[in-house]
Formats: sequence, C-alpha cells, structure tokens
Amino acid sequence: MPMPLPTPPPGRQTQAIIEHIAHGTATSRSELARVLGVAPSTVALRINELTELGVVVEDGTGVSRGGRKPRVLRLREDGGHIMVADLGGHHARIGRFTLTGSLVETRSLPVRVEEGPEPTLRTIADAMKAMAAASGGPAGIKGVGLALPGPVDVATGDVKLPSRMPDWPGFGVRAWLEREFGAVAVVDNDANLSALGEHHAQLGPDQHSITVKAGTAIGSGIIVRGELYRGATGAAGDVTHTRVAAAGDEPCSCGNTGCLETIASGAGLVRQLARQGVAVESTADVLDLVHKADPIATTMLRTAGTYLGEVLSSVVNFFNPDCLFLTGGMASSELFIAAVRSRVYEGCHPLVTQNLRIEAARTGPDAGLHGAARLVLDQILGQSRPAGH
Ligand SMILES: [Zn+2]
Repeated sequence: MPMPLPTPPPGRQTQAIIEHIAHGTATSRSELARVLGVAPSTVALRINELTELGVVVEDGTGVSRGGRKPRVLRLREDGGHIMVADLGGHHARIGRFTLTGSLVETRSLPVRVEEGPEPTLRTIADAMKAMAAASGGPAGIKGVGLALPGPVDVATGDVKLPSRMPDWPGFGVRAWLEREFGAVAVVDNDANLSALGEHHAQLGPDQHSITVKAGTAIGSGIIVRGELYRGATGAAGDVTHTRVAAAGDEPCSCGNTGCLETIASGAGLVRQLARQGVAVESTADVLDLVHKADPIATTMLRTAGTYLGEVLSSVVNFFNPDCLFLTGGMASSELFIAAVRSRVYEGCHPLVTQNLRIEAARTGPDAGLHGAARLVLDQILGQSRPAGH
C-alpha cells in the first residue's frame, strides 16, 4: 500500500506553484489553492516571496465567473540568472538558467583541475559573469551551482578525497563562490547532480531512479521520491570501487585492487588498450576507435558495459527503481548501453525489470547543470540547507 504523501516543505510548494503557472494549469491565487489543496493564506505567502524574488508578476485579469475578476499570475523570464557549471578534469560546462528554471545557454571551456581550486574557480567565475553580462538587461546573478568530479562534503562544498584533485580538499569551494558572487551557492558531486537533473527531466516527484555517469571514472546518483539520497557519509551510489572477480589484482586509484573502475571506466579502457600497444590517451580516443569499428576497442567497450551491468544488477534488484539512466562519455555509445541493459535484465528478477527503463540520459551533457540549477532554486525558494549545515 502506498505511504501517504508528507506535506511538502515551502520550497516544494513554491516549485509546484511555478510549474502550475508555467504549464497554465493554475494561474490565479484561488486556482493554486485549489490544485495544491492548501489554504489561500499559504498561497499568498508563497506568491509574495516569488514576487519579491522577481520570479512571478501578477497582472491583467482572468475570466470572471461573476464577481471580481481574478488577477492572472505569470512567470518573469527576466528576474535574474542562475549560473551553474559542471567541472570535469579538463573542461567545464557552463550554463545559464532563468529563475523559473529554464536553461537558456551553455558553453564549454578548457580548465585544468590539477592547477588547484583558485585558478580553476577564477576561470569558471569569469566565464559565468561574462555569460550573464552578455545576455543583456540589468538582471543579476541570483545563485551559483557547481558540480565537482569527486565525493563532496555538501556542508562545506569541499572535495573529500584528494586522488584526482590534489589541492582541493579543505579549500572551502562553496564559501569562495558565495564571496565571489554575493549570492546563494551550492556545490555537490557531479553524479548526484546529474541524477537529480535527469530525474526531473523525465520522472515525477513520486518516482525513483539511478543515474550512472560512466566516463573516465564511474559514479552514480540515487533519487528516492524525487529527492537526492546521499547516504550516511555522502558516499551513496559510489559503485566504482565494488570489487569484481574479472578485475583480478589490478590496482585501483583508491589503493585497493580489483575494483570495477579498473576494467569498466574510460581510464581503465585507456590503460588496457595501451597495454595492447594501441595509442590512446583519453576516453574520447577510445570512443573514436569504437566509432571507427576498431575490433579491440569495440570488444573492450562491450565487455566494460557487461561488467557495469553485473554490478548494477545487484543495485537494481535491491533498489527497484523506475529508471536507470546512463550518462557520461561512454553512454554516448549505444553498444555500451545495450551491454549494460542486457546484463541487468539477465541478472534481475522479472518483478524488478517488468517496467524498468534503461536508457541514455535525455539531458545528455547538461544533466549536471539541470541538477545544480534545481538545488540552487531550492535554496533560493526557501528549501532548507543541505544536512549538516
Ligand atoms: Zn577502487
């Protein structure tokens, strides 16, 4: 039997109001009170907040059914910018959203995270400011979000492990962004933000999904009833260091041996190909070879998908999600997705797979941007701070 839905917190009510106005399903205070099932005074409170933020304006008059004509609510697309970035090892993808949550434009630029946080964040911040300024109009930056490629302490916005980003742990990334922009800032792991972004692009607030980011490394984010599930220490979804028999004693970046990462990640494939004398330097090089139908690279990519599918079949059996989305460089190959899908279907109980969808993330390279913008909007719209802060 389904559990009764809890009363949504103010931030969720606000999101719902924005969505109803955007879709035209409720455009006056009285209609909103009716569809949301809340008191008119609650709607009034939320509308006042949204008007002050510059998200909503109330003008014109609606159709009267006798008596006073209702004022019509509409969204303002010029109320301000949410600037977000998804940081990879060698490039950052930057996006500009409106306060109503629409993605307006994106660009990618080269960065080198190994140069440390200060120069990397400076490059990203300058690019964000330039993009906002170039959009014209007087509106300012109202919030900033950043997806980082590693485990993140969401309270401080810091990278937790130094393996790929040596000078980052302890830097205070979120505080730096708040100071730089004088605005709300949110920092989280890229797989978590991709999961959040893709979930809300495809599914509703009562559904569950897992999004696996398979690129140079492998990460995944878990969404339970539309909300990010981080686990006790923020490491939920970190499937990459699951030991798999096929990886043998292959040493992993975590210090252990035989992790999934060593045989199923882009970095793992680069290493394996190099051993066979194939000159590749990046996941993109491996995918290029696959697109050119290179037999060794093709077999390796398919096998990587099978190993990932093997680990994910335990996860899917246990968690029973509505959808399993795949994103990251490797997910650009249908061959890889097909290998994951067939292994998961083979390894799962029919009750779990009967309605399960396994497919490439529709938001593609923008998944993390959508998730970051959503968390920033949650903060701006009155959702409580992440746990631990
Ligand atoms: Zn490992």
